[in-house]
Amino acid sequence: MLSYRLCLLVGAIATAVGQNSEQELNDAIQDLVLSFGDSLFQGPSSFTGVKLSSWDERSGVNPEELGDYPEGDILFPRQQSEPMSRNSLRTARRWKRGIVPYVIAGSFSYEERSLIQQAFADFAKETCVRFVRRTAEPDYLMITSDSSGCWSSVGKNGGAQQLNLQRSGCVTTKGTVVHELMHALGFLHEQNRWERDDYVTIRYQNIQPGLAYNFEKASRSSTDGLGINYDYGSVMHYSEYAFSSNQMPTIVAKKSGVRMGQRSGFSPSDIKKIRRLYKCNKGKSYV
Ligand SMILES: [Zn+2]
Repeated sequence: MLSYRLCLLVGAIATAVGQNSEQELNDAIQDLVLSFGDSLFQGPSSFTGVKLSSWDERSGVNPEELGDYPEGDILFPRQQSEPMSRNSLRTARRWKRGIVPYVIAGSFSYEERSLIQQAFADFAKETCVRFVRRTAEPDYLMITSDSSGCWSSVGKNGGAQQLNLQRSGCVTTKGTVVHELMHALGFLHEQNRWERDDYVTIRYQNIQPGLAYNFEKASRSSTDGLGINYDYGSVMHYSEYAFSSNQMPTIVAKKSGVRMGQRSGFSPSDIKKIRRLYKCNKGKSYV
C-alpha cells in the first residue's frame, strides 16, 4: 500500500514538473514576443550575412552575436508559404518525446557536416534528446547554410523549421551549433535571465547604439531557469564583448575568474536543463 501511494506521489510530481517546464517555455516565448514584437518575425538578413562573412575566430565575440536579429540570433522566419506571426505561435513547443527530425538542406563541407553530427551526438550522449534523420515527419528542423548568419527559433514551430548556420563562421566551433540547436529545443540566452544582475553588470555605455534591447531581461514571472542556477559557463551565455561598440566589455562578471561565452559545448548545467525540460529519465532515456 505504501509503495502504491509512493508511486502515485512520484507520478504526480513527475507530471507537475513536466507541465511546469512546458508552461515555462510557453511563458518565456510570450515574454520574447512582448519584448521584441514583430521584429521576431522578420525575414533572414543578408546584411547579417555580410557581417558574418568577415567574422574571425580571434575577434573575441561569437558569430551568433553578430546578427541583426533579436538578441543577435533569434528569429521566427517569415515564409511566403506559411507566414509565421505572433498569432501562429503554437502552445506545444517542445519536441514530442525529445525526438527532433532533421534535414540538412544547406551545402556544407565534409568537416562542417561532421561538426553538426558531433553536436547531435553530444545530445544523444548526455540527454534523452535525439536528432534523427527525417523520413516523413511533418514537423522537422531544416538546417540551411544561407548567407544570413547563425539563427534559430525558440522551441518547435511546426512544419519545416529553418535553422541557419552560415558557412564558415557558424560551423567553425561545435558550441555554436549546440547553441543554435538548444534554441530550437526551447532555450534562451543565459545572460538575459531575470536575476542576471546579481551575477553580471551590463555596461550599457559600451553597447552599440540602438542595440541595448538585446540585453533585455526575461520577466521573473516567465522563467525560473528550470530551477537551475545562473551559469556563466553555459553555451547559451554570450561573450563579454557581445554587441560592443568600442572593444570594451559589455558584460562583466561579478565573480572573479569566470569565463563567459565558451563554445566548446555543454556545461554541466546545460545538460541538467535539457534533461529537465525534456523530462529525461535518469538522464538519457525519455520517461
Ligand atoms: Zn543565441
